[in-house]
Amino acid sequence: MRATFDNTYARLPERFFARQHPDPVADPALVAVNETLAEELGIDTGSITAAVIAGNEVPEGAEPLAQLYAGHQFGNWVPQLGDGRALLLGEVIDRNGQRRDIQLKGAGRTPFSRGGDGRAWLGPVLREYVVSEAMHALGLPTTRALAAATTGETVVREQPRPGAVLARVAASHIRVGTFQAFAARGDVDAIRTLTRHAMARHTPGAETVLDFFAEVVAAQARLIAGWMSIGFIHGVMNTDNTTISGETIDYGPCAFLDDYHGAKVFSSIDRMGRYAYQNQPDMAVWNLAQLASTLLPLIAPDDEEKGVEIATQALNAFGSHFRAEWLRLFRAKIGLITEETGDETLITGLLSRMSTSRADFTNTFRVLATTGDARALVTDAGAWESWAPDWQARVKREPGDPAATMLAENPAVIARNHRIEEMIEAAVAGDHAPFHKLMEVLAHPFHDGPDTAEYARPPAPDERVHQTFCGT
Ligand code: AMP
Ligand code: MG
Repeated sequence: MRATFDNTYARLPERFFARQHPDPVADPALVAVNETLAEELGIDTGSITAAVIAGNEVPEGAEPLAQLYAGHQFGNWVPQLGDGRALLLGEVIDRNGQRRDIQLKGAGRTPFSRGGDGRAWLGPVLREYVVSEAMHALGLPTTRALAAATTGETVVREQPRPGAVLARVAASHIRVGTFQAFAARGDVDAIRTLTRHAMARHTPGAETVLDFFAEVVAAQARLIAGWMSIGFIHGVMNTDNTTISGETIDYGPCAFLDDYHGAKVFSSIDRMGRYAYQNQPDMAVWNLAQLASTLLPLIAPDDEEKGVEIATQALNAFGSHFRAEWLRLFRAKIGLITEETGDETLITGLLSRMSTSRADFTNTFRVLATTGDARALVTDAGAWESWAPDWQARVKREPGDPAATMLAENPAVIARNHRIEEMIEAAVAGDHAPFHKLMEVLAHPFHDGPDTAEYARPPAPDERVHQTFCGT
């Protein structure tokens, strides 16, 4: 793979990572290459070979390493996690001057593998490929998928599965958990070095560590508001899956809502509903509080009480950032660009009716955009009639074209769970056509056409996916 690497993370102190080469596999074969992204990264598509993606060849200039991190998983502290099956190949500067990580996920065991085999199987690899690219097409910050390859080896999960590797691109892989790993060791020097590194990459305008923290808070608030606006449930918002860049990362048991319900949970491992749809903003705040506590020695080195006070103030700004972005997005979803005081009531009024009717989240808003009449979806008796006149009156006071606003904000197609399951099943049987077709449709989520109707359709009762699995 011909890429111009410039690996700043590999130049950080050795205790930040473990240098590790990918483990070669039996029979690498490419499943997909993201040509548009490759071009953005200045990588010649033809040089993205199966051997490189599967880890049999390390590209010139790469310095593969497994990053150290820790984290709270479902609220429980785990002092050492780290890349157990992922390797950072290095960094490139993209066509917009942005530094991007290239990582191989599923490339073999590392010193952080604990009991794991260091591998991934084709299902989760293609799931992450599809959903991360769908997220990007929806306009939300996310890690990207550069390529996927099968390994020709079998990975044993609940049953034997085809092994695969995902080449993933991120603004960085620095997580809240990266800071936590050093805080837990009392290594203030490392926290200072990591903070400097993260500031240079993600918040170049920030002058102080407090500014840095405030920017991370704002980025996370915008991200979570974005998730809410498209009905996305991450499913594993642990601190090790919370980026400093504000990108969505680690698509495990994530899912898009079909029928709308605030307490909705898909993930089989989220038994308490900690990461339910409506809990996501609170959980982000919880994660950011963990980040704040690691930064206290830098924010106010001699006065912890003072540090706590100013960090708390910065953390509290999450609420106003989130609310402002949430209102902006949901206003646009019902055709509003101007602001009136009654708008929030109008939005929550629709959402509560959708919840009572278990209306399809995506399609209710899309039908509103295309026909102005979602009566058939909000089926509860009188629900539509008790909401629509207020909305219609409000929309009349908009200066622009409310329908155009709505069409640009409400996708026609999302990565529906049953489509993902169907795509994985076909891929395991050797048929990659459904994967490519799904990718094609999801690349243009705001486009309606005869070919997209089938993908916009909610699951039939027998197609409904009730639970999603980490499947790692
Ligand atoms: P995840 O649930 O993918 O965010 O992973 C949580 C932690 O478990 C991370 O430290 C991963 O690197 C590690 N992990 C997950 N799957 C494996 C595996 N098959 N082998 C080794 N480590 C793994
Ligand atoms: Mg993770």
